[in-house]
Amino acid sequence: MPDSTTTAAILPAQQRVDAILSRIAHAAALADRKASDIELIAVSKTKPATAITPLIATGHRCFGENRVQEAEEKWPELRGTDGLKLHLIGQLQSNKAEQAVALFDAIHSVDRPSLIDALAKAMDRQGRRPDCFVQVNIGEEDQKGGCAIADLPATLARARDAGLPVVGLMAVPPLDVEPAPYFALLAKLAARHGLTGLSMGMSSDFETAIMLGATHVRIGTALFGERG
Ligand SMILES: *Cc1c(COP(=O)(O)O)cnc(C)c1O
Repeated sequence: MPDSTTTAAILPAQQRVDAILSRIAHAAALADRKASDIELIAVSKTKPATAITPLIATGHRCFGENRVQEAEEKWPELRGTDGLKLHLIGQLQSNKAEQAVALFDAIHSVDRPSLIDALAKAMDRQGRRPDCFVQVNIGEEDQKGGCAIADLPATLARARDAGLPVVGLMAVPPLDVEPAPYFALLAKLAARHGLTGLSMGMSSDFETAIMLGATHVRIGTALFGERG
């Protein structure tokens, strides 16, 4: 059987969404959780509007993009759909905070004081308050976004003081290693800080993430096929 990432691109949108939803439901059942407590964020980065509209037509409403500029170019025409939710999952520069607050319903990459301050200012000015996830550099990697684990308490305090609606934590574990310990650590950190949202799990590891408590899984390749 070909793997899901290569078949994804050729199956009709409804079948692709159903396949992922049933895998989510299966993982949730194994962990004695409700599938409805897990949000599927369809990561449409690099995909053109023509690849996205079939998913919207199936009734799917929750999408993720990783770059503000790309999202600004693609989404205005798609955004009119009722109930659509757009999540920013990529690193955010402070000078793009204003645009990010205007366009997105949730921001998963809040990770440093300068960005927190810029987001707070933009939210106050626009009167719009997207849900915020604080991103943690869970594998302590040099190149990765996210605050250091040791800085999490201060980062959360600053975000809350600034009035950001912090709903959870987000992380991307290191590549090519078993992700479960990192998911478990993120879940422990969230619980310690009284946060219920856990944005973790991608195409290759979302079932593991769900069994360890993920509330938001960010899935691109398994839904849309490989990115070019
Ligand atoms: C691209 C991306 C995803 C989706 O990755 P897939 O492996 O294609 O499912 C999830 N999270 C982040 C932060 C990403 O940049």
